[in-house]
Amino acid sequence: MENAIIIGGGIGGLTTGALLSKHGYKVIVLEAGGEVGGCDGKFFKDLFSFPVGATFGMGFEEEGIHNKILRYLGINVNIFPLSEAIRITGFSAPLSIFQNRTNHLK
Ligand SMILES: Cc1cc2nc3c(=O)[nH]c(=O)nc-3n(C[C@H](O)[C@H](O)[C@H](O)COP(=O)(O)OP(=O)(O)OC[C@H]3O[C@@H](n4cnc5c(N)ncnc54)[C@H](O)[C@@H]3O)c2cc1C
Repeated sequence: MENAIIIGGGIGGLTTGALLSKHGYKVIVLEAGGEVGGCDGKFFKDLFSFPVGATFGMGFEEEGIHNKILRYLGINVNIFPLSEAIRITGFSAPLSIFQNRTNHLK
């Protein structure tokens, strides 16, 4: 069995690890932070930290990249799309990012 060491447990590292593991590699993921997920669980802008939780609003469509990879790995997850993928508050009005781009025009 071949060994693979992956530096970084963000979605990129975890996905790579899962794919290598499917192909018979023994995988070790080294993560510098206290948790896996990378900027999928939080992100930083200037001095601010946004603990937004899972931010994946895109990629789980039928032919979306994450959906394709999950199918390839044989992982069944009950995924349902949120119409409003992200809402940023703290301004005079909330800023929303919708799945359906035409909603931004309303
Ligand atoms: C608000 C927001 C919304 C988004 N929405 C979507 C979406 O809907 N769909 C989508 O597909 N993408 C989306 N993205 C993008 C997606 O989240 C990122 O592209 C993805 O999470 C990047 O993953 P990564 O593994 O490449 O990098 P990162 O998430 O940055 O992970 C890198 C990891 O490596 C670790 N690391 C760094 N250096 C070292 C080291 N020397 N040793 C060990 N560990 C180390 C870090 O701690 C981190 O955990 C969104 C991003 C944001 C901010």
